[in-house]
Amino acid sequence: MSLKGKVALVTGSTSGIGLGIARALAGQGADVMLNGFGDAAQIAALQGEIAVASGVRTGYSPADLSQPSQIAAMVRETEAALGKVDILVNNAGIQFVAPIAEFPEAQWDRIIALNLSAVFHGMKAVIPGMQARRWGRIINIASAHGLVASANKVAYVAAKHGVVGATKVAAVELANDGITVNAISPGWVLTPLVQKQLDDRAAREGRDVEDLKHAFLTEKQPMAQFSKPEQIGALAAFLCSDAASTITGAPLSIDGGWVAQ
Ligand code: NAD
Repeated sequence: MSLKGKVALVTGSTSGIGLGIARALAGQGADVMLNGFGDAAQIAALQGEIAVASGVRTGYSPADLSQPSQIAAMVRETEAALGKVDILVNNAGIQFVAPIAEFPEAQWDRIIALNLSAVFHGMKAVIPGMQARRWGRIINIASAHGLVASANKVAYVAAKHGVVGATKVAAVELANDGITVNAISPGWVLTPLVQKQLDDRAAREGRDVEDLKHAFLTEKQPMAQFSKPEQIGALAAFLCSDAASTITGAPLSIDGGWVAQ
């Protein structure tokens, strides 16, 4: 497989799963536009590291994807810096945990804006260029929570179910345009987003974080291990390959058996 000559825009790629995907796509030869928050010097170092490791061009957009106008601007910035967007990975996401009766409205709005609306705005901005070139790959990072629920995650679960629905609509609309649209639905991946949930719960229950990890995993997953960002990256790279050119509209689980139950 080679993605040489292709340009990938990976949102939320300064950390965790997005960074794993950016590294995997660059590893196949794609030029990569990074996005996300973080320390400017660390992000510049990441850009350099990926460019050198894979011999690709890299760029970085600090766009805040909860703001629709910044999403369109990020796509234009990618086109200006790297020429086009062939691969869009909508990955940026946040979490907030509370029962519905106590769930702050502002957190609902924040999560829907980033985890769901940004997926729509991103797809809308890149589709015309992909149609003109008759090639495109859109990969939306959903979650096991795009397929099943857990208590206390109303905004996240609603947003991720919405991402799976939007993925299917885009796949149907673009089926004969050379563009595939799929969702990846990870189970637990030990990133800063999950580490915070572990730390909060360990503090709440007065437990050791390391002891809690096993319980945390097995409450949801038959397989008592975390998936790794590089494994999500490898699945994303496969979805960009010719071998995957007829996979579209699929929510692909990579979740240690979470939704098999
Ligand atoms: P993470 O916290 O490690 O990374 C999130 C990334 O999004 C960071 O780069 C951050 O800077 C960026 N980001 C946050 N707010 C942003 C904004 N407003 N605009 C632009 N970028 C922003 O989290 P992660 O675990 O790697 O999660 C990545 C995606 O994977 C999310 O959509 C998440 O819902 C999903 N996911 C994660 C897991 C898991 O177990 N970690 C499981 C299923 C799905």
